[in-house]
Amino acid sequence: MLKGYRGKLFDFANDATIENAGAKHRYYTNGLLLVEAGKVVAAGDYDELAGEAIGAEIVDYGHCLIVPGFVDAHVHSVQTKAIASFGKELLDWLDSYIFPAETLFEQPDYARIHTRFFLKQLLKNGTTTAVVYSSVHAAAAEALFEEAAKLNMRLIGGNTWMDRNAPEELCLPAEASFELSEQLIKKYHNQQRLHFALTPRYAITSSPKSLRMVAHLFETRSDLYLQTHISENLKEIETVHHYYPDRRNYLDVYDYFGLLSPRTLLGHGIHLTSEELKRVADSKTKIVHCPSSNLFLGSGLLDFYRMQRSGIELAMGSDVGAGTSFSMLQTLQDAYKVSALKGEPLNAMDAFYSITLGGAKALLLDGMIGNFDIGKEADFVVIDPTQSELINYRTRDASLDEMLFALMILGDDRVIKATYLMGEMVKIEEVEGRG
Ligand SMILES: [Zn+2]
Repeated sequence: MLKGYRGKLFDFANDATIENAGAKHRYYTNGLLLVEAGKVVAAGDYDELAGEAIGAEIVDYGHCLIVPGFVDAHVHSVQTKAIASFGKELLDWLDSYIFPAETLFEQPDYARIHTRFFLKQLLKNGTTTAVVYSSVHAAAAEALFEEAAKLNMRLIGGNTWMDRNAPEELCLPAEASFELSEQLIKKYHNQQRLHFALTPRYAITSSPKSLRMVAHLFETRSDLYLQTHISENLKEIETVHHYYPDRRNYLDVYDYFGLLSPRTLLGHGIHLTSEELKRVADSKTKIVHCPSSNLFLGSGLLDFYRMQRSGIELAMGSDVGAGTSFSMLQTLQDAYKVSALKGEPLNAMDAFYSITLGGAKALLLDGMIGNFDIGKEADFVVIDPTQSELINYRTRDASLDEMLFALMILGDDRVIKATYLMGEMVKIEEVEGRG
């Protein structure tokens, strides 16, 4: 059945890049998005599309902004309970809060309830596509894929591999993680809207043998993703050097095992050297910027525009539990503050590009999601600025640019009026799951 959504329609044209995002945005103040069978059939000015809309059931969102669903390219489904844990740097924080929280996900019932809560937080914040780390346990990864499938989310995820430097109950021999990944790929990869990502946590918790086995699996299929962490914290970098003394630098650990590729997502990368950045760019590996997490753990300040000028494609991640909000708007607020401290403030167009079409491109999913081109999956978010008194006050009579900027600085889940997956509104209150 043909359905139409009226409102202020905003997205970026397919040929937009981070260099030209501002010039490639599309905005219809009296816009219409037409959807049929979960896909976009038309998007543009309401009056011009009136002919095509005949017979359509129209939902009028009036003054609200309708934008493509947000992409969170780095988040942990097993750390929600540890969000906002006080006073540690990365390595201590993992030991004190994160590993104990992840241990609980061995239990299938626990995993299911808490994963459901996690997905609910993503959706109520307007995130329709996420790239997710689970724990080492089968139960955590299965809950993630199955609950995401029930909701019909587009999601990339995988079981986390750790075979050393973590509590005994969280260390699995590389063979066991290999086998679990293989099973999960068979069961979930490319089913509905799911994709599998090989997920070695990072070089400290992965032995050379483990990284070799990850690489082996990565080579078996050309459509898998790979995600891991890199150069987040200075002590982490020193520790990696201790465990891999023969490698030139941190990046070289992953490079040596053949893990860099256009389908590889490296979280953080704050302290990568010029030499490493060049290799990231040459291999078309992606960096996921997680500013909220970086500020919270005091890890450092990533230079967004320097990285972009190095030819690296960036996506944004909330990185909850180290990140302090599931909201990609709040994540942009932190990205702005970090970029301001680096002397080159992130503008609103580039920011919104990076959580919509730019994120989709970094994940190589822009053929399916990211904007309102005909045939794309109708994942979109309805933003109502009037749901926050302050944002409403600040943005009355504002230009588009001012509106977007105010939303990314002041906005959060309160302004997300509705989230749609494949043209269906998610009934957030019915997504059970509790903490
Ligand atoms: Zn992370």
